Amino acid sequence: MAAEPPTKAPRPGPQDWRVAEARFETSAPSLALAPAADLPEFAVAGRSNAGKSSLLNALTGRTGLARTSAAPGRTQLLNFFAMTIFGPGTRLDVRCADLPGYGYAAVPTAVRDGFAPMVEPYLQSRETLRVLLVLVDARRGPDDRDIAMIEYVADRPIAVLVVGTKGDKLAASDRGLWTKAVAGDLGLDRRNVLITSARTKDGLVGRGGLLPELARRLSAEPP
Ligand code: GDP
Repeated sequence: MAAEPPTKAPRPGPQDWRVAEARFETSAPSLALAPAADLPEFAVAGRSNAGKSSLLNALTGRTGLARTSAAPGRTQLLNFFAMTIFGPGTRLDVRCADLPGYGYAAVPTAVRDGFAPMVEPYLQSRETLRVLLVLVDARRGPDDRDIAMIEYVADRPIAVLVVGTKGDKLAASDRGLWTKAVAGDLGLDRRNVLITSARTKDGLVGRGGLLPELARRLSAEPP
């Protein structure tokens, strides 16, 4: 068994990116009740327990912004956050849609059945949606529901980034193998598969990390 990698956070450097002014806007039960589509938007999806709240909190530096799952499956709504992303020479005002986690068995069937009618129209018709992040526990691979999320946006000009979470649980030598295997399985470009750790902050704000890769796709003109 490989040794656990160190968990010391890397020091922020001058080329690092950051999120400032992240604020919760609203929870909406449907696309119709979402905030006006007036900012470039990214959506965050993943099965319950994939590490979504931890990642959003680590990215924004705000521990209470997205609740970590004391009660997994509780957040069965579209949660919207406005935020500003800063990078070298860049300032971007964007919106994040935190989608309900899927696949938690203890959620009542009625709630589970409500997932697709809420999320599918959002993914298929939100005009400002540019990027879909699909969070996958890096100790596992994407499952059928992760693949279904990617398929919802397949016909749209939306970049998909598959984000391996809890990368600190993988040996460094396995991280490249994971991204290669996942990209191959899903037919994605390897640059669209990343490994992150909310715990060590690796893969988040430095060159090639999630935040600059996200910002690059959010600032691209829609085709
Ligand atoms: P969510 O249900 O997708 O919002 O997942 P959470 O953010 O609540 O995380 C689920 C579990 O994974 C919690 O026990 C977290 O402490 C753990 N976790 C989340 N991110 C990391 C990480 O980067 N590294 C490790 N080792 N554990 C993590």
